[in-house]
Amino acid sequence: MSPFPPHLLEGYRTFTSQRLPTEQSRYRDLSVRGQSPEVMVIGCCDSRVSPEVIFDAGPGELFVVRNVANLVPVYQPDGGAHGVSAALEYAVNVLRVKHIVVLGHAQCGGIRAFIDKIEPLSEGDFIGRWMAMFVKPGEIVEQRERESMADFTVRIEKAAIFRSLENLMTFPFVRSLAERGELNLHGAYFGVAEGSLFVLDQTAKEFRSVRESA
Ligand SMILES: [Zn+2]
Repeated sequence: MSPFPPHLLEGYRTFTSQRLPTEQSRYRDLSVRGQSPEVMVIGCCDSRVSPEVIFDAGPGELFVVRNVANLVPVYQPDGGAHGVSAALEYAVNVLRVKHIVVLGHAQCGGIRAFIDKIEPLSEGDFIGRWMAMFVKPGEIVEQRERESMADFTVRIEKAAIFRSLENLMTFPFVRSLAERGELNLHGAYFGVAEGSLFVLDQTAKEFRSVRESA
């Protein structure tokens, strides 16, 4: 058996010597009181887009679900096992989060796979099936005339955020709280190269740079 990755052990040592001392009481407190995060983040698995890093969040602050391309499925009470739906149910009905942030990002591999219509990587074609959820029946997603591939990709990455926000509202427990203003849904887009963050202006349906508005 190969050893546990040494750099992870090294990282843990750094955590215990540097970060833990400043957060020890918070961890202890959280272990007694339990978690009560106000924010749920639905992000991508991408190793470059860590919500805790981007939002400089400490333990207990963010309830995070990550999956390929930050997708939320539609409400489907079909008896199947739905991971995102389970997390959503827990965050909304038990933790009573006040905000749900769908965090998309640039250079998303899941979106890339979808755009390139890649061949299945395995017999099960898990990525293909997962990404297919992003498209509504009968909907065609293609590059517009005079639209560069880069612009097309960004448009689809942002469309995935819109679709997830739309799908969130298909969950009755999300919809009822959102309509009463007790739960707020947000979209955000992270530019990997610059570390830039764009937040969705839901009225204008446009993403606005946080730096520009600051
Ligand atoms: Zn991604």
